[in-house]
Amino acid sequence: MVGRRRCSKPSCNGAASSTFTYVYADSTAVLGPLATYSEPHCYDLCQMHSERMTAPIGWEIIRITPDLDALKPTSDDLEALADAVREAARPRYQPDAEPAPLPTGSVEVARRGHLRMLTSVEIEAAPDDQLFSEDFDPR
Ligand SMILES: [Zn+2]
Repeated sequence: MVGRRRCSKPSCNGAASSTFTYVYADSTAVLGPLATYSEPHCYDLCQMHSERMTAPIGWEIIRITPDLDALKPTSDDLEALADAVREAARPRYQPDAEPAPLPTGSVEVARRGHLRMLTSVEIEAAPDDQLFSEDFDPR
């Protein structure tokens, strides 16, 4: 459960409420709702530290305010996403190929369950002391 995760700040034992993600390629940091999975280069922060977080010079922080309504994709969104994925996966060199038959017992809607509404970004590794430098920590 997410309730077990703690703030990543040294000497802080607060419960994590947000996830901070560094995107070095874009000099951007994204502060958003607690990530479902704990991933490399993502740092959980408590409420206090997420509010205090500021970007170093030249960096931009994108704060994603949790909005329960906005977080729920509409059926139209899911439909469009599923269509886009299928379109991208379609082999262009076999325009007449028949789609693979669905396994017994599965329905088309089940495919959407494999789609993760996550942004995939490449993040370069950085040592922890850089991540928690004074520039990044306004305390
Ligand atoms: Zn904290």
